[in-house]
Amino acid sequence: MSKILIIGAGGVGTVVAHKVAANPEQFTEIMLASRTVAKCNAVADAIGTRYGNRKIETAQVNADHVDELVGLFNRFRPEIVINVALPYQDLTIMDACLAAGVNYLDTANYEPPEEAKFEYKWQWDYHDRFKEAGLTAILGCGFDPGVTSVFTAYAAKHYFKELQYLDIVDCNAGDHGKAFATNFNPEINIREVTQKGKYWEDGQWVYTEPHAIHKPLHYPHIGAKESYVIYHEELESLVKHFPTLKRARFWMTFSQEYLTHLRVIQNIGMARIDPVLYNGVEIVPIQFLKAVLPDPGTLGENYTGNTSIGCRLKGLDKSGNPLTYYIYNNCSHAEAFKETGAQGVSYTTGVPAMIGAMMFVKGLWRKPGVFNVEEFDPDPFLEQLNIQGLPWHEIINEDLEV
Ligand code: NDP
Repeated sequence: MSKILIIGAGGVGTVVAHKVAANPEQFTEIMLASRTVAKCNAVADAIGTRYGNRKIETAQVNADHVDELVGLFNRFRPEIVINVALPYQDLTIMDACLAAGVNYLDTANYEPPEEAKFEYKWQWDYHDRFKEAGLTAILGCGFDPGVTSVFTAYAAKHYFKELQYLDIVDCNAGDHGKAFATNFNPEINIREVTQKGKYWEDGQWVYTEPHAIHKPLHYPHIGAKESYVIYHEELESLVKHFPTLKRARFWMTFSQEYLTHLRVIQNIGMARIDPVLYNGVEIVPIQFLKAVLPDPGTLGENYTGNTSIGCRLKGLDKSGNPLTYYIYNNCSHAEAFKETGAQGVSYTTGVPAMIGAMMFVKGLWRKPGVFNVEEFDPDPFLEQLNIQGLPWHEIINEDLEV
């Protein structure tokens, strides 16, 4: 028996709401709240049609305002909040959780709106307050971060005495048929992929120009795709929690077409995050760009192909012998759409967020304080991942290419 509140009704929120509704034995009452309540109502209607007897309450909330959130939390009294709004709202939602005595889960770490920079420090600083309040906060419970971090914890638990090299590989071999679109919130996505490259090596961060390191990597059932080293947030927590790592990198595939559009967007100033004056009104170019780009939540209908995301690990096995290990999931955009009306990137984020909340309500991932997902037991989570639509696979002692 548990009440759950989902904040954010975009592509990811849509999937979380579907998957929560599909697990009635764990989640007995559901509320979906967001800035635009019409989007929540549309999701609730779709779920009502699909699952018949599942009713989802909806509410309007501006999650930038702690007092509005506290009012909503006190009215609905959820046990846990799944935050799938934007990273800008992480801290206000955590503040409201502390004020109203509610547990917390998200899929992306805090990012200040005025600076394209993300790191865990801001949220890790809440640890003592959550601990004293007896509340659990689970950070980064999407696919990456999220499943990639749990994959790493699983490898460390079952296969490695010493983890030495980690390469997270994220391939989207899908085709949505648009000239240019991002697979999740365009503002957050463009801020992420245009920043400098950064990876961990020999106890320190190494910086590169954006997309400077790249090579083709082979993905299961997909083939070779040009893959680029970019910085991704889970690297920060994984090198902290697995200190034997000598090197940790994150690779993502991009098509030439995508990179060309990105370069043009940057060169003409449309990726700027500072306000400019237009006809006497201040606008932020990247926010205007978001308004004219395809909504990622609507890409699903004609999306073909698969995503393939996993971890390639090297180190010493439990007996001290060299071992390579690759653990991954492939997800079909079309299957994700058929089930939830959303494409594969929203699906691979929303399913793990629901499973994280399920781990919490079952009491398996529950400890006072603020934690990254790799600090919990990976086994029950990965068991559910197989059941809930994202089956995973292992390849042992083959060439990792990285
Ligand atoms: P969308 O832009 O599609 O949806 C965001 C939702 O949040 C919208 O419904 C939006 O409302 C709502 N929202 C924005 N600001 C506020 C606010 N101040 N108060 C209340 N609601 C607000 O994004 P996605 O669904 O694509 O992504 C959601 C989150 O998932 C992001 O944080 C993203 O970084 C994260 N993510 C994580 C991944 C992972 O693997 N870990 C991968 C992909 C995404 P409105 O409709 O009014 O704009």
